[in-house]
Amino acid sequence: MKILIIVEQQNGQLLESSLELFGIPFSDDAEIHAALLCNHSAALVDTLISHNVTTIHLAQDPALDNYLAESHATVLTRVIESESPDVVLAACTSVGRDLMPHLAVLLNVGLASDCVSISFEDGNLIARRPLYAGKASVEIEFIDQGTKLVSVRPKTFPIPKPNSGNAAEIENVVVNLPNPKTVLKDCVVAESKRPDLAEAAIVVSGGRSLGSVGNFKIIEEFADQIGAAVGASRAAVDSGYRPYQDQVGLTGKVVSPEVYIACGISGAIQHLAGMRTSKNVIAINTDPNAPIFQISDYGVVGDLFTILPLLTQMLQ
Ligand SMILES: Cc1cc2nc3c(=O)[nH]c(=O)nc-3n(C[C@H](O)[C@H](O)[C@H](O)COP(=O)(O)OP(=O)(O)OC[C@H]3O[C@@H](n4cnc5c(N)ncnc54)[C@H](O)[C@@H]3O)c2cc1C
Repeated sequence: MKILIIVEQQNGQLLESSLELFGIPFSDDAEIHAALLCNHSAALVDTLISHNVTTIHLAQDPALDNYLAESHATVLTRVIESESPDVVLAACTSVGRDLMPHLAVLLNVGLASDCVSISFEDGNLIARRPLYAGKASVEIEFIDQGTKLVSVRPKTFPIPKPNSGNAAEIENVVVNLPNPKTVLKDCVVAESKRPDLAEAAIVVSGGRSLGSVGNFKIIEEFADQIGAAVGASRAAVDSGYRPYQDQVGLTGKVVSPEVYIACGISGAIQHLAGMRTSKNVIAINTDPNAPIFQISDYGVVGDLFTILPLLTQMLQ
């Protein structure tokens, strides 16, 4: 079975959610290829080689350093058409969410998106993805024998340990990029020392009950003690307590950390859609009947304004 993993980079760093794809339990005879599109690639290639790839398809062009669907889809369509992989994988990041449907249309093949489990049975790929805001999940089997596209939710698989003794073939991909219809003019990177919300191992989120921008400081101070990212419910974002990029849920980001700590969040279905696949959920809420407790591994019935400063103090 031939697998092609589309690897994403940002500012010269491979994304963790891309490296996680090398942790999928492929069959022993799987031939793992990687596609890397960027201009400065030497260190990134070394990292990929240490993850057991047999071939790296490398497209180098300054225009590929930043993602634009037209140029990336053009290069990747060429690689997929010439290599005919059985499965093409990408992380379901904001880039993956945009790119994979483009590829599915250009190649006229099927796509399973935002999958939270993947297995291979008798050479067939079986994927599972959440439906109805995470209330149900569906098992997907491809009926077409051609290339299958799959995007995988970040934090679904662990990054495997790198292996120093590997060698890989490098295939340079030379493609005339189309004249772009869109141009990336500026990329504003959020100034934060905290981990990226979508990739963080621990997320501490606050809800409407925080009551003000200033009160979110107690969430931030606690998060900083445990190296966590800060998230928020839509009610907190709509109230102006946090920026939209911190929103977790159906109309915000989907996160799947090792630990999700929901502080003063009721657990509305739309919020659960964004964090339900977290490995461990801890909730702090004054209402013992809050729906968030139904999906929590640990719950504290109490006032977050008392509990969080105490926890922060203890950690300090
Ligand atoms: C189409 C659509 C899309 C949506 N998308 C999203 C989305 O992406 N993300 C999202 O989050 N929501 C989304 N929502 C909104 C969602 O339905 C809820 O309204 C929202 O999640 C509620 O936020 P909350 O839990 O912070 O507030 P509330 O529901 O008001 O809950 C506040 C909670 O805090 C508790 N509390 C109060 N004081 C304290 C205290 N001192 N200490 C501890 N606990 C306390 C209360 O008991 C309560 O459970 C969407 C809604 C719609 C219709």
